[in-house]
Amino acid sequence: MELAQGRVPVIEGWFTVEPPALLGRRCPACGTYMFPPTGQWCPNPRCGCDDLETVPLSRNGTVWSYTDAQYQPPAPYLPRTDPYEPFAIAAVELEKERMIILGQVADGYGVGDLSVGTRVELVVEPLESDGEAAKLVWRWRPLGEEVDQ
Ligand SMILES: [Zn+2]
Repeated sequence: MELAQGRVPVIEGWFTVEPPALLGRRCPACGTYMFPPTGQWCPNPRCGCDDLETVPLSRNGTVWSYTDAQYQPPAPYLPRTDPYEPFAIAAVELEKERMIILGQVADGYGVGDLSVGTRVELVVEPLESDGEAAKLVWRWRPLGEEVDQ
């Protein structure tokens, strides 16, 4: 298998791989950010602009809340281990945009590595644990630093 085949976002247009960055929409009229980058209208009710631009979002942020999935999610979730092992999920406040983005936590990290205020960075990892999957997903990787709230 060629490496290039394993470097494709699982959802086209939601993030880039090199470098890993979520793609949001920004309203040029009022500065409001959106993610995911769907829809044509600014969500600000006092704006109404319909000419949004696609922009890469901050690759860093801080954990706003977190938990772990103790029960295996239903399909289309792909079990990564057998038996199932819980994985951590973090809601992260982006450094610049201050919006909250939910995502799984990177391989090798769990809730024990997280607390509110933990600094994280965006990474991309294969959807399946064997690494042969052609699709990538975004995850939050803890940086081992705390930020005073
Ligand atoms: Zn706007």
